[in-house]
Amino acid sequence: MNKATPNVTSSNKLYADTVTIHPRKVKGPFRSIKWWLMAAMLAFWHLAPFIRWDRGPGVASQAILADMAGRRGYFFFIEIWPQEVYYITGALLFAAIALFFMSALAGRVWCGFLCWQTVYTDLFVLVERLVVGDRSARMMLDRAPWTASKLAKKTVIHAAWIAISALCGIGFTLYFGDAFQTVREIFTLEASIGTYSAIGIVGGACYLLAGFAREQVCLYMCPYSRFQSAMFDEHSLIISYEAWRGEPRAPSRKGESFEGRGHCIDCKACVQACPTGIDIREGLQMACIGCGLCIDACNTMMDKVGLPHGLISYDSEANLFARAKGEAPQTKLVRLRTVLYTVLLAAIGAGMLFALGTRHTVEVNVLHERSPLFVPLSDGSIRNGYTYKVLNMVRKDRIYSLKTVGIEGASLEVVGSGQGKGAETELQVPGDQISTYRIYVNVPENNVSNIKTPLQFVLTDKADGHVVQSETIFAGPGR
Ligand code: SF4
Ligand code: SF4
Repeated sequence: MNKATPNVTSSNKLYADTVTIHPRKVKGPFRSIKWWLMAAMLAFWHLAPFIRWDRGPGVASQAILADMAGRRGYFFFIEIWPQEVYYITGALLFAAIALFFMSALAGRVWCGFLCWQTVYTDLFVLVERLVVGDRSARMMLDRAPWTASKLAKKTVIHAAWIAISALCGIGFTLYFGDAFQTVREIFTLEASIGTYSAIGIVGGACYLLAGFAREQVCLYMCPYSRFQSAMFDEHSLIISYEAWRGEPRAPSRKGESFEGRGHCIDCKACVQACPTGIDIREGLQMACIGCGLCIDACNTMMDKVGLPHGLISYDSEANLFARAKGEAPQTKLVRLRTVLYTVLLAAIGAGMLFALGTRHTVEVNVLHERSPLFVPLSDGSIRNGYTYKVLNMVRKDRIYSLKTVGIEGASLEVVGSGQGKGAETELQVPGDQISTYRIYVNVPENNVSNIKTPLQFVLTDKADGHVVQSETIFAGPGR
């Protein structure tokens, strides 16, 4: 009996071998923009936690802070409590739509210029270039046998990568505690295990992803590269090789005419400059992160052979075809999808601004006690118990009056307050915290005929008259 054997041989593997990509150094406007953005983003990441913001005495003065111990998030003048996590949801939604909008207009600018994977990979490649040299020197070093010189160069590279990764991890921890104090604690070995663990995890991820995984992250790990093409249309800006002008390609000799042939001199400078190692002449590919470095590389070659720039262009597909047909290119920014994204961004932005502008500084939560649901008292009344929580989000004590609405003759009693029963009671709520009260509501039995009767708690700020109403029920035996 013949057994079926898997059709896998050494030359027909299930997975391609990973090839280390050594991008070639290029000069040009896209490279310059990437350097400037890298500098700006790294500066912000590492310096932003040191920006101060005065919130008054006894309160964190760090402008951007996730205060885990105080269960609070600070962003300049905005202060978010855990109960207000919907603001973060709104911000994430806004960011996601902004990314879609950016992609529809300008292609993968996020991937090519703003993604932290791109930024740190660029920085790590810069380290390699400074220590070893450009692409060919790095490739030669990789192929060379292990010598003292190779070992020394590799050690310097990895030491620099580890230092950068550690700084990345330290930068992360500074957003979770006072930055000045955290830095002091880290370097005097007084920081918590949690802080060192966070540095290890974030720094380790940086070292592995930017040092080793590199373009594999974009190709296999990042979901955005998989669905970003769904956000493109024929007017979105993409990186394209203008085949109509470049083909038929052929190497060129000095002084040779370009009559009757394409402008691509097949120098492969675009391929060698590409951080993901692709050949853009084969068309738009998922692996293209839209960094524009192939444009810089190609334009440099075009200068050398005296041809105009733009053999590889950053333009829309529609304009690419228009140029191929000799028509004038047009930029069409207003399209159905860009209008839709603009409307969505405006709606979410306006909603968040409105929510922030009209933000309540007090929140109430009422929980009806279930065991027992009600207690018949000897004076003929029915008693229900409630847990009543007041979140006072300002840093000063507040005095409230509390009453109920919905059942006639109801009286309130705050357990342990020393106040007697009454139709209305007073709550003193300390500033900047959640206060929990146990409250009894007593109602004459004749006034509650149902098993469940709707009841409202009405909390009124005695200083400014602001009212917070909370719906609950009053349980009775029913008749
Ligand atoms: S093809 Fe060009 S734009 Fe795309 S990733 Fe490579 S160098 Fe960057
Ligand atoms: S850099 Fe330009 S000329 Fe050279 S191979 Fe690429 S497309 Fe052709």
